[in-house]
Parts: sequence; C-alpha cells; structure tokens
Amino acid sequence: MNGERYRVATGLGYDCHRLVAGRPLVIGGVEIPHTHGLLGHSDADVLTHAIIDALLGAAGMGDIGQHFPDTDERYRDADSIELLRATVGMLVERGSVVEHVDATVVLERPQLAPYRAAIHARLCTALGVDADRLNVKATRGEGMGFIGRLEGAAALAVATVTLPSGPAAKG
Ligand code: MG
Repeated sequence: MNGERYRVATGLGYDCHRLVAGRPLVIGGVEIPHTHGLLGHSDADVLTHAIIDALLGAAGMGDIGQHFPDTDERYRDADSIELLRATVGMLVERGSVVEHVDATVVLERPQLAPYRAAIHARLCTALGVDADRLNVKATRGEGMGFIGRLEGAAALAVATVTLPSGPAAKG
C-alpha cells in the first residue's frame, strides 16, 4: 500500500471535558454509571472526540470543530458515535482506509476496565474496522492536575490511515 498510488499518514487527537454532577458519563459510546459526567455541547464523549480528531488529522481534513461546530444546534447532545461514523464516511468517500487507531483515556475514576470490552466493540463498529485495528487504554491522573482533582477527563488518540496520493486525491 506504500507505492505510488497510496501513502500512509498518522494523525494525533486530544480532547478534554469538564466532569460535572448530573451529566451522563459517555466514553467510547458506552454510558458508564457514575455520579458525574462530562460537560459539553454534544454528549461530550472525550474518547470518541479524540479519535475523530486523530482521523481528521491523518486525512488532512482539519479538526472536529470545523466539521461539527459546537455553535450548531444540530450537534446539541449529539451522539458522538454518529459523528465518528460521519467522519469515517468522509474518509472512505475520499478513498481512505482506517488502518489502525490507538487511544488512551485519562480519568481518575471510575475504573474503565469493566467497560473496556464494550467500548472497544462499539468503537470498532463505528470505525468499520476489525478488532485488532483498535486499541483502547486507560490511565489515571495519580491525584495530580485537573484529572487528579476530578475536575475533568482527557483522551489522546493516534490514527494510521492509508490515503490515495497524487493529483486525484486533492480537494
Ligand atoms: Mg470534545
């Protein structure tokens, strides 16, 4: 795939959201029972947002705010999994292939381990990839910074995408 007609690109994604009482905690499209949830215009799914930005980065297509602006009422309380599906759709339309995504959620609590399989399955379906093309990890803030103080959560993602190259791929 690394010949004349295709090139491999990587993209980086980062997102963070404030943790507040009385909001659902949605991570990777899975609602996790907890006293607090993430605050945002959409469902504030921090992991899915980081993955969307990583994919857009790899494809050279800007960022999540350009495609799904938080000033747009259409995206109020939006299901971020649908935004991820739309993002993958835009890539596929351009002839791109999602090769691999690796992601890390940084959250002090609750522990994500019991939900990791469900998150992985949900994201693989939305990405349209086999299970071995997505890896999801979780870590904590160890009591430090805004994550350690339970003020918010963050996520990072790296996406590897094969893009058609050459003049036909422009635009
Ligand atoms: Mg976000």
